[in-house]
Amino acid sequence: MATNIIDGKKVAGILRQQVREDVQEWVGRGNRHPKLQAILIGNDPASRTYVGAKTKACKEVGIESETATYPDTISVRELKDEIINFNRDDDIDGILLQLPLPGHLHPSQLIETIDHRKDVDGFHPMNVGRLAVGQPTFRSCTPAGILELFRYYSVMTKGKHAVVVGASNIVGSPMAIMLSRENDNGKATTTLCHKYTRNLTQHTIQADILVVAVGSPKLITGQMIKEGVVIIDVGINRVSDADSEKGYKLVGDCDFDSVCEKASLITPVPGGVGPMTVAMLMKNTLLAAKNSIYPKD
Ligand code: NAP
Repeated sequence: MATNIIDGKKVAGILRQQVREDVQEWVGRGNRHPKLQAILIGNDPASRTYVGAKTKACKEVGIESETATYPDTISVRELKDEIINFNRDDDIDGILLQLPLPGHLHPSQLIETIDHRKDVDGFHPMNVGRLAVGQPTFRSCTPAGILELFRYYSVMTKGKHAVVVGASNIVGSPMAIMLSRENDNGKATTTLCHKYTRNLTQHTIQADILVVAVGSPKLITGQMIKEGVVIIDVGINRVSDADSEKGYKLVGDCDFDSVCEKASLITPVPGGVGPMTVAMLMKNTLLAAKNSIYPKD
């Protein structure tokens, strides 16, 4: 592996090991194993793969998991009732609603139905709000995992110019909040770019740290960045590849070869951010089991 490539698999492995030890200690004190309830709707192959990876990680760290699957014809009311039952179940610590959802189901409506104390994805408005005002919260797993990568690779953010491309509720927006606000691995001057940003290059070229989360292959090329930038490529895109058995390969949002030459550090796709997202989900589930974010009275 080239020296400037961030090894997300390795760092995620270290984090999972830490969670595993913490779970052992927690259970050793007489508590039950933490439990994650996943909700999977429809037959999207990528969603199935992601839920499969999360279930596997749960097993590895000693977290129990169950996946409830529903047809993509399920109504909003039926799904809300299911979520309410999971909220009420004291044996469930964390609830994961796998996105994207079929068109008739609006993520925000359903995310708000999840008890914020079980929102281990960190998407509930209560948790996003607490993030925005600097209170303890379930932090969205992907951006929180990126900050862990910064910690491991000693990437200093304070006073740097961080540019985030893509402003979704689950990645870009919470990333920008964390980078701009948090004391530990934050305090960067932060620019958030989105679909309506004019002249994207004018912003990306200034970045000391560039996080790209759009879902558009080769959106960022070598000409759009400056020498020495740290690049976090969050995008996961399937592009056809005749050489691969599956007929496709996964790529990020950056034109890897051209940006890699200039970057001081860069995450590969796959093997960069993805494993960190899963590891942070494990960490959040343990926090939920311990009532660490929302202590019981
Ligand atoms: P999303 O909800 O589709 O959001 C994409 C964001 O990019 C939106 O804010 C969109 O703006 C913006 N955008 C679209 N075209 C743009 C452009 N040309 N320039 C700048 N911004 C643009 O996607 P997401 O859930 O954030 O995910 C983004 C990518 O990351 C996807 O490829 C996804 O698969 C991947 N992902 C990876 C992980 C991981 O663990 N590695 C986790 C989550 C997501 P509008 O809202 O105005 O359309």
